[in-house]
Amino acid sequence: MKPSRVWAVVPAAGVGRRFGAGRPKQYHALGDRAVVAHTVARLAAVRGVAGIVAAVAPADPWWDEAAEAFGVPVVRVDGGAERCRSVLNALEHLGAGAAADGDLAMVHDAVRPCVAVADVERLVAAASRHPDGAILAVPVRDTIKRAGPEGSIEGTVDRDRLWSALTPQVFPLGRLRAALRDAVAGGCMVTDEAQAMERAGARPLLVEGSPGNVKITRPEDLALARALLGAEGRPGGQGS
Ligand code: C5P
Repeated sequence: MKPSRVWAVVPAAGVGRRFGAGRPKQYHALGDRAVVAHTVARLAAVRGVAGIVAAVAPADPWWDEAAEAFGVPVVRVDGGAERCRSVLNALEHLGAGAAADGDLAMVHDAVRPCVAVADVERLVAAASRHPDGAILAVPVRDTIKRAGPEGSIEGTVDRDRLWSALTPQVFPLGRLRAALRDAVAGGCMVTDEAQAMERAGARPLLVEGSPGNVKITRPEDLALARALLGAEGRPGGQGS
């Protein structure tokens, strides 16, 4: 089978007000580079990636400095008020350019710098074979509780068949764009691409990824990312 052409889309327009410390989480330093520079380097190392488009907040003053460390060209488009609008803007840009609807779009959060390239290549291979695309995910390991209004436990949720959705998420570009257009037009601000595809009737594949593909959400996640990169002997890890 002919390998699919893959376009990487990086939503990087979050402002992360809860994170604090002056700048959004994707611009915090991991060793010598910003979080987003690690993320871009991982995506650029994936076989078959034809180009990378990032959605960045229009007035973002940090992007240019972070981009100096990328080492590969990354096209910047304006992000939107929600993540799904940011991703849609990037897909519209790709559709108006060199990308074909039958190519694959691979969406990956700017704030997941530790994703393993081998996991992403397994994911792309799975998405190339499965008509509805595929996402990286991990089975839920903890016992899951539903809270009542007072914060006490209302019940235990059966975790059998529950997964946490990670990124990347890979879909045929034209179908993902249509699904996101429809979701946004319907006022449904989906929190991942698979949800837009599910709304459109698709059943994307779950591909088990590494739990080390952490999403930098809180300040302590930066320390975790440093430890993970350090364990790989990568710059950005502890001691570098
Ligand atoms: O806010 P959250 O942690 O879900 O963000 C996940 C990713 O989506 C981050 O990389 C963030 O920069 C991006 N995002 C975006 N546009 C928004 C909100 C978030 O590109 N409006």
